[in-house]
Amino acid sequence: MRYKYCPECGFCLFDKEAGDDGAVPYCDRCKRYWFDSFSCCVIVMVVNEFNEIALLRQSYISDEYQTFVAGFMTPGETAEQAAVREVKEELGLDVGKLVYAGTHWFAKREQLMHAFIGHVRRSDFRLSTEVDSASWVSLEDAPSKMFPDRPGNTQHIIYRQYLDSLSDRKFRGTRIGFSLW
Ligand SMILES: [Zn+2]
Repeated sequence: MRYKYCPECGFCLFDKEAGDDGAVPYCDRCKRYWFDSFSCCVIVMVVNEFNEIALLRQSYISDEYQTFVAGFMTPGETAEQAAVREVKEELGLDVGKLVYAGTHWFAKREQLMHAFIGHVRRSDFRLSTEVDSASWVSLEDAPSKMFPDRPGNTQHIIYRQYLDSLSDRKFRGTRIGFSLW
C-alpha cells in the first residue's frame, strides 16, 4: 500500500527523492518518508510423526479447499513466535520443531508470508472458533484438498519443500511408502 496521507498527522504527502529508493511519499510537516507498507503473515504446514498434514476448513476462506494454519504477525513478535502461537491458537497443538520454509509474496493481498513446517505429535485438535474443522490427511492425499497449484500458491511451495526434505534424508519410498515423481 502506498501512503497518500501522513499516518501521524494526516498531512497530504508528496513524492520526494530518497536516494536509491527513488521517489517516496514524504510528509513535509513530520519531515519523514513513508515507505510502502504491507502485512507480514505466517503460514505453517503442520506435520505429525506419521507424515500426516493438518488441513483446516475455514468457510470464510473457502468452502471447497482446505488451508494451512496462517495468521498475521503482531508488532514485537518474531515470525517464529507467530508461527508457534498460530498453531496453538488454531489447532491447540504444541510445535516441537519449526523449520523455516522461506518468504513468499502473496500479491492478491499484499502480504509477505513467512512459511514454516511445524512438526507436532499426533493428537486431537482443540480448534479455535476461526476454524470450522480440521483433519489429519496423508501426504499423498493432501494436494487434491489444497488450493489449486498455481503460481504464487504458498501451500504447494511448502508442501514440495517438505517432500524434498524427505527425499534428501533418503526417506523417500521407504518411510513414507510412495512416490510422487
Ligand atoms: Zn506528518
